[in-house]
Amino acid sequence: MNIILLGPPGAGKGTQAQRLVERHGLKQLSTGDMLRAAVKAGTPVGLKAKAVMEAGQLVSDEIVSALIGDELDAMGAGTGAIFDGYPRTAAQAESLDAILASRGRKLDHVIELDVNEDALVERITGRYTCATCGKGYHDTFEQPKVAGTCDKCGSHEFKRRPDDNEETVRTRMAEYRAKTAPILPIYEARGIVARVDGMADMDAVTASIEAILA
Ligand SMILES: [Zn+2]
Repeated sequence: MNIILLGPPGAGKGTQAQRLVERHGLKQLSTGDMLRAAVKAGTPVGLKAKAVMEAGQLVSDEIVSALIGDELDAMGAGTGAIFDGYPRTAAQAESLDAILASRGRKLDHVIELDVNEDALVERITGRYTCATCGKGYHDTFEQPKVAGTCDKCGSHEFKRRPDDNEETVRTRMAEYRAKTAPILPIYEARGIVARVDGMADMDAVTASIEAILA
């Protein structure tokens, strides 16, 4: 089983990917991680990538394809892959097809964690934590029982992450849509795209993904 998991920041993609790894023994292939590992290990592809990066250039699709091929070969035929952050372009999607086909694999599902942008803004901008013990709260969904006092440790100090503001969330959503726009129609035409409500409870999201894979 080989899948692409898509979702904007805040949709819980990391958690769901981790659960897929645990439940199905899939391996998560993130191009950034593979690149760093190959450079560190000094593989032929890694050395090539290192030279390109040291020259201040972007790593080519050819190098990324070679990295993915190496990784799939190392995984063995019985282990499925979750592609994360790749492909981003129609050309990369085509390369991925070729890489998989040459190894007797195919892409089975493209799963997108769908979010309602306004609800995501509310979810993210409302969250804050206790500055002392780190317990999480939310303006709308989880206030302390006594206003201004942490339920867990009694502290009166709370903090918010500077990134948790509306502008940042909306910018990230726009970036996400721009990144996925070139590839979604390709997979939609094949009928392998499934959308899951990423705003639902984490366990409900997992159950929906399991239903797609079943
Ligand atoms: Zn606390």
